[in-house]
Amino acid sequence: MTNAWKQLDVAVIGGGLGGLAAGLALRRAGHKVRIYERYDYGGEIGSSISVAANGGKWLHEWGVDVKKAKPVILTKLIRHNWESGEIEGVYPFGDYEKLFGYPYYNVHRKDLHDLLQRVVVSPDGEGTPCELILKHKAVVVDYETGHIKFENGEETSAELIVAADGIRTTTKAQLGITPTFGTSNSCCYHLLMRRADLIANGLTDFSVEKAIEFWGGDDKNKIVLSSCSDGEIISCYCFYAATAADTRDGWHNSATRDELFQVLKKNLDPKIADAFAKVSFDIKQWRLYVHEPLPYFYKTSRKGDVGVCLLGDAAHAMMPDQSQGAVAAFEDAGALGYIFSKEFIENTGVVPSLAGGLKLYESERMPRVTKIQAASLRARENLKERIGWSTDGVDSPDKLTIEEVCGYEPKTHMDGLAREILRA
Ligand SMILES: Cc1cc2nc3c(=O)[nH]c(=O)nc-3n(C[C@H](O)[C@H](O)[C@H](O)COP(=O)(O)OP(=O)(O)OC[C@H]3O[C@@H](n4cnc5c(N)ncnc54)[C@H](O)[C@@H]3O)c2cc1C
Repeated sequence: MTNAWKQLDVAVIGGGLGGLAAGLALRRAGHKVRIYERYDYGGEIGSSISVAANGGKWLHEWGVDVKKAKPVILTKLIRHNWESGEIEGVYPFGDYEKLFGYPYYNVHRKDLHDLLQRVVVSPDGEGTPCELILKHKAVVVDYETGHIKFENGEETSAELIVAADGIRTTTKAQLGITPTFGTSNSCCYHLLMRRADLIANGLTDFSVEKAIEFWGGDDKNKIVLSSCSDGEIISCYCFYAATAADTRDGWHNSATRDELFQVLKKNLDPKIADAFAKVSFDIKQWRLYVHEPLPYFYKTSRKGDVGVCLLGDAAHAMMPDQSQGAVAAFEDAGALGYIFSKEFIENTGVVPSLAGGLKLYESERMPRVTKIQAASLRARENLKERIGWSTDGVDSPDKLTIEEVCGYEPKTHMDGLAREILRA
């Protein structure tokens, strides 16, 4: 039956974490993949990203040696009192790896991005290496013909186009979806600190706990701290209530320590305030946006021989408060790779058409990411909603649990859906 499997000619638009993951997943499944990125990667942002087991599972499946991204393995969540720094709660991950199959990684996103870039084009590992084509900004994507036009005048076409063009996706509109989003009432400063600088200045070594540590979180004000790069770098997100002055957009808005302290709620724990005042660097300010769930994730041509689907932030941009945006993009990529693989045909006895496969992709991804999106928004102002803390923090049928997020079995779920949807 796997004889009926067909190799697809795939173009991925966007070479962020989601696009690279999609390229890798489809390469591993046997397809021919080109990834088009508008930039040359000079400005990849420096911040940490936690990769829970539901994302790590796919990285391992694709043969990514995550150790090369110098991860810190997270062991717990810690909540501090904003003013005194006293510990008010600990959520130990306990046997996390045993329970969910993979560790809870914390990496510098540049390290992970660099690693994925190397792996997608590497001659080692299964599948034909992806072509990674930089300085190609897609301006026209036609789901009827599979035709793509780039700003530099070049053109190409593909059977399957994966639009991983991020939160400001322009492909979405070309699929007939009117973006519905608005500015969030929160903004964020991000900063880094070197472990060596903390120690040299007699400050607290925040890498010791191997935890995600929170200060505040009962309103819009929240500091989220964690270490990455083998513990050498400490990364901090400082969320605060947006004001009329917060109009700057983009990922590269440099800011000063003075600007940071102007927005931080007063009387911050002196341990962390001192560290910010003395050794913080690479301070950036980010505006946050609230995105509504989309009505659909893909379109196919009338004949069904060409399809365009959205992936990652292009499909489901979310507040960062569940640390699941990139992980959800890895899940999207994993789903696409699995649905169009020989393994899927063996497991289900179903040979999906392009249109059928994309229908299954949407059916599997949409309810899951919509729930995570909603829980991320709630966690923006209520730390009790964050997975881990949510175990005892909230009692609501909508609550997101660490078990459903990290212990998710995507292939089993897709196999079941395939029987319902594709055999119906
Ligand atoms: C404060 C904060 C903290 C976060 N922390 C976490 C975390 O701990 N864990 C987690 O899982 N997630 C986290 N996230 C979310 C995560 O960063 C995103 O969900 C993830 O990076 C999305 O990846 P993407 O590839 O979909 O989009 P992007 O990273 O935005 O990549 C899109 C790419 O497409 C390119 N592109 C855009 N348009 C075009 C075009 N027309 N043609 C060609 N290329 C194009 C862009 O240049 C870019 O390289 C956080 C987000 C924020 C804001």
